Amino acid sequence: MNNIKHISILGSTGSIGTQALEVVRANPDLYQVNVLTAQNNAELLIAQALEFKPEMVVITCEDHYLKVKNALPNIKVLCGEAALIEAVQLPQTQFVLTAIMGSVGLKPTIAAIEAKKDIGLANKETLVVAGELVMQLAASHGVKIIPVDSEHSAIFQCLVGEEENELEKIFLTASGGPFRGKDLSFLANVTKNEALKHPNWVMGAKITIDSASLMNKGLEAIEAKWLFGLESEQIEVVVHPQSIIHSMVQFTDGSIKAQMGLPDMKLPIHYALAYPKRIKSNFERFNFLNHPEFTFSQADTKSFRNLELAFTAMKRGGNMPCIINAANEVVVDAFLKDKIGFLEMSDVIEECMSSIAFIEKPTLNNYLETDMQTRIFAGEKVTKLI
Ligand code: MG
Repeated sequence: MNNIKHISILGSTGSIGTQALEVVRANPDLYQVNVLTAQNNAELLIAQALEFKPEMVVITCEDHYLKVKNALPNIKVLCGEAALIEAVQLPQTQFVLTAIMGSVGLKPTIAAIEAKKDIGLANKETLVVAGELVMQLAASHGVKIIPVDSEHSAIFQCLVGEEENELEKIFLTASGGPFRGKDLSFLANVTKNEALKHPNWVMGAKITIDSASLMNKGLEAIEAKWLFGLESEQIEVVVHPQSIIHSMVQFTDGSIKAQMGLPDMKLPIHYALAYPKRIKSNFERFNFLNHPEFTFSQADTKSFRNLELAFTAMKRGGNMPCIINAANEVVVDAFLKDKIGFLEMSDVIEECMSSIAFIEKPTLNNYLETDMQTRIFAGEKVTKLI
């Protein structure tokens, strides 16, 4: 029983959080949950807390505080975003799974690293916004960052045992989303319900829209740059609609390693929680005969401008990725509320990139200010479009 890993889950009621708890539920002798946090979903948070009996629970939206507190008399209940900082520091926690959506994940992730907790990173925005700073901090505190994003988990798994070998490049695979093969005139009129129908993956609303617009792949390229210490030229996006190869690495001898499996986020979650071990699972096994064809093609950056914008931001560096991330969070929210069209999302992001002050070597405060300024600017642009 000494081998129990104490974990905290930030964002336990979201898609990644609930699947992580399924993994914990299937392995009760391996994991103990210390902290659960949610933004709004008080009902599910309460049910999860009653089942997994964490030491502390945080509901970030203060309106639900009393409801959660009254339902959980034996658990410490906190509210507000600042409480996430306290939550990640519990002494017995070894591993923090950051599964909250958006750049609000940045501060608690930094606090967890400073408290020397290993990180299961399911919040890609943290590395997009401040990748250089976060990776340096992790290195200086001896903290491991284990990616949960399926592509990055694939690359991470391909690199185990290759510590002495140099990477030539990576291939980030992309399904292409629900609008693969469509042109601008089609995309101008797509609805949020069409955009929310991902062909292969079941995910939260924000990331599903990002997948439809290919912004997700752009954010993932930036995430990969920092996680694996790459230059932009070493990152190539390949459309692979079957979503079986989750990504590939190419070494300097030309050899390529791929990680494969059915598209199910439980596998990378299971891997991250158990790392460095592999633990038996009862997940459905892949059958080659059911998938006789793998295809590959180039991403269409003419119709899906977000991918190009993200690469431009990555190459520019500084606070530019922070700008596109904040702008994207605002436009995706507006698109989900039927306030703007699918293509207008890229227009607003591009305007933010050319309007917000560029900072070449940002501090943490610069990032936080850039994030706020961009949200205000993007919000005004969205209002003008309505
Ligand atoms: Mg991914």
